[in-house]
Amino acid sequence: MSRELTKLTIAGARDALRKGDVTSVELTESCLSAIDAADALNAFVHKTPEIARERAAAADARLKAGDAPDMCGIPVGIKDLFCTKGVASQAASRILEGFAPEYESTVSQNLIDAGAVMLGKLNMDEFAMGSSNETSVYGNAVNPWRRGNDDTALTPGGSSGGSASAVAADLCLAATGTDTGGSIRQPAAFTGITGIKPTYGRCSRWGTIAFASSLDQAGPMTKDVRDAAIMLQAMCSHDPKDSTSAELAVPDFEAALTGDIRGKTIGIPKEYHMDGMPQEIEDLWTKGKEMLADAGAKIVDITLPHTKYALPAYYVIAPAEASSNLARYDGVRYGHRAKLAQGDGITEMYEKTRAEGFGAEVQRRVMIGTYVLSAGFYDAYYNRARKVRTLIKKDFEDVFAQGVDAILTPATPSAAFGLGEMKDADPVQMYLNDVFTVTVNLAGLPGIALPAGLDKQGLPLGLQLIGRPWEEGDLLNTAYALERAAGFVAKPAKWW
Ligand code: GLN
Repeated sequence: MSRELTKLTIAGARDALRKGDVTSVELTESCLSAIDAADALNAFVHKTPEIARERAAAADARLKAGDAPDMCGIPVGIKDLFCTKGVASQAASRILEGFAPEYESTVSQNLIDAGAVMLGKLNMDEFAMGSSNETSVYGNAVNPWRRGNDDTALTPGGSSGGSASAVAADLCLAATGTDTGGSIRQPAAFTGITGIKPTYGRCSRWGTIAFASSLDQAGPMTKDVRDAAIMLQAMCSHDPKDSTSAELAVPDFEAALTGDIRGKTIGIPKEYHMDGMPQEIEDLWTKGKEMLADAGAKIVDITLPHTKYALPAYYVIAPAEASSNLARYDGVRYGHRAKLAQGDGITEMYEKTRAEGFGAEVQRRVMIGTYVLSAGFYDAYYNRARKVRTLIKKDFEDVFAQGVDAILTPATPSAAFGLGEMKDADPVQMYLNDVFTVTVNLAGLPGIALPAGLDKQGLPLGLQLIGRPWEEGDLLNTAYALERAAGFVAKPAKWW
């Protein structure tokens, strides 16, 4: 019974809670047991059972009183990037060792206000930089899926790898993620779950540890599209504490899920056909196109001509912003400080602390970022990348102006790969994971990844839908139609 409860969707649990068929305390205890039995996945890195039990009891009281928002009593995991009051919030970095914030991020506070129950903090790549969860100070999270009978440990993707692993393995009903270049959508695709990155400005960034501020957005990682709609709704709000948070009412996303997409126009961008992409991904994409056409959508070929510059522009802009954001970790204000030698001054303290506190990938990004922002190279790299970004955004604006409602692409260029497989590869090899997702962040658009099939080794493959700005409801509805047509129900076989 306890295993079964953790398999519930948010919508299923919400209805059972309201009917009194289950209590939040029961749901929460089931999740806590599942988490304790899944240490092999290394998904939860700070467990918070006391907080969970307290919030579950409070949620049950609210449910009893008939004051129950949709997320009330729902046990969730929170990515380690969100500051959670009094609870370790480390961005999976050594430099934030021992940091327990005095405040709660707006997104996690919104979830608390809605009655959600935090089970703990989830593994991720250090400062959300990575695509495999291998840059984490806690060690990598593990994908619950495996290739056929082969027991090679696979990556759950990154940076929200712990969130993806936890949701796919039914350790929690849903989790928060963040997406700067694909970190919700790529891990969702690698683990057979759903993840949406909303329009930039939909979720407040306040209290979410910054990576690249003009790209970062929080979003839900869930078992299906309906749950994504429910949880996104609870996470978003206008927040005066984040100047880029949109002053817009949050629509009822779940109400948009009619499954009716007749007359919608879906664009297929020719630039997303990549050299060397596995045939299975091409086939999945074709299948997705056919399913949307069968549901009554009109399929059109489109062109997004600047796509090929997206990855290089991203890997200038994101490190530039990261180098500036990460300057605050100086050994004085937060977390780790290196042991100093006799005679060391403030410069040595900064240098030693940052050298010890940041892992290799973060150091690489800080160096790239500092370089592209330096006086001699600012115009050649940073300013050039910003101009490219404008062109990428315009590509999307042009197709939307031509009447395209959503764009269908693969979510990732491959299925989940083996942990350690990329260890000796050029870092650019890892960056290629984001080839289909970064454009969406650069343009500030909403994008959703959902599972649509299995490859021949039995691993999940995802499709991505990209929508018009601020029209997450419409995008979720298209995803809902695709989900119903794809009928993906596979689950990883339990080995952990
Ligand atoms: N994999 C990308 C990177 O390493 C995206 C990360 C993210 O979206 N946070 O930058």
